[in-house]
Amino acid sequence: MQSLTVYSDTDTKLNAIKTYVGQRGFDFLKITKSRQIPIDVLVTKERLQEFKNTLRANNISYNITIDDVSEIIHKNKEQTEQQNGKRVRRAPRSRINLESFATYTQIVSYVNFLQSRYGEIVEVFSIGKSYMNVDIIALKISSGTGDKPALLIEGGNHGREWISVSSALYIMQQLIENPRNREIFENIDIFIIPCLNPDGYMYSHQSDSTRLWRKTRSTNRFSLCRGTDANRNFDIQWGYGEASVDPCSEIYIGREAFSEAETKAFRDFVLPLQDKITTYVSLHSYAGFILYPWSFTNISPPNLRRLNCVARRVRTAMARVSGITYPIGNSHDLLYPTSGDSMDWVAAHTRINLSFTIEISGGDYGFLPGIQHIIPTGNKIFEAIKVFAQSVDGRICNIN
Ligand SMILES: [Zn+2]
Repeated sequence: MQSLTVYSDTDTKLNAIKTYVGQRGFDFLKITKSRQIPIDVLVTKERLQEFKNTLRANNISYNITIDDVSEIIHKNKEQTEQQNGKRVRRAPRSRINLESFATYTQIVSYVNFLQSRYGEIVEVFSIGKSYMNVDIIALKISSGTGDKPALLIEGGNHGREWISVSSALYIMQQLIENPRNREIFENIDIFIIPCLNPDGYMYSHQSDSTRLWRKTRSTNRFSLCRGTDANRNFDIQWGYGEASVDPCSEIYIGREAFSEAETKAFRDFVLPLQDKITTYVSLHSYAGFILYPWSFTNISPPNLRRLNCVARRVRTAMARVSGITYPIGNSHDLLYPTSGDSMDWVAAHTRINLSFTIEISGGDYGFLPGIQHIIPTGNKIFEAIKVFAQSVDGRICNIN
């Protein structure tokens, strides 16, 4: 598999490239409408020559960014394993070591530790079982009883996006284990689902050849290919735009909306809390954007001014610590029209007012941030979360 960066400076060129979106053997990591932002795509060996021919025929320039993706994956994994070995020796079951990407088992033992150690502010529970019958764990952080509005943070919808999971863990650690951060949840509650798709996450940890697994792990009728893109499976304009009905595609929508145990569990967890949760943040990687609804249309949501106000403050807070300024907008305008994502579903089908996605930007290898990116990225996302927390009870951007 090769990683290519492709430069399209006209609509004709972009359209030629876009015909490959959703096709087998193609994994578009980043494709935007902006002519300034190049397209990043992974292409399997089998489709490589054909794709390069198309690029040449259309006069589209490209670079090979990684000649052999499997080599990078291998290096990346060795580094993580070395750290994990150290971790076992240094830190027993309890503490999470953010110097490596935690396995799902490590995440579970960490949240259980948090509950036993900080039971007065932490409650751990399962929102349901994954396809492989694994508990999708969640955490409620609360400074006490009383009916408080809440923030919901979710990561790990896509198995391979480890940096979204490690950022959720960093947030957890900061909120719970650092007493200086208690004021953040003095007047609000915070729910965290660190890894919505444990099956995909565990599978991506399994071996080099599965490292880039994105989807769930459910089986598909009449196909040997497994999994559904859980962020195309929500019941909101399901199947519209850049989404695929081919079970072998990376962006397969599933046999029906909410066909997946994980999306159903999310829905059934959120609906009863829709009058309590006021802000929802979905963590993904790796394009480097702050997104708000809608993904499927460029019609503005009714609370656009408020969304924009919060997003701008988040951008400023993140740029202050990282020096990187994320573009803000809706996926439809900034990236491409998609459908069936959790952010749009929350915005359309619940009373939760503010719904966002952060596409965390990549590291040295882009789509495969190394372990050295875990803490700086966590820190950057934590700054964002502080702003989102202020939006929960209307302390900021209290406008219509
Ligand atoms: Zn994602």
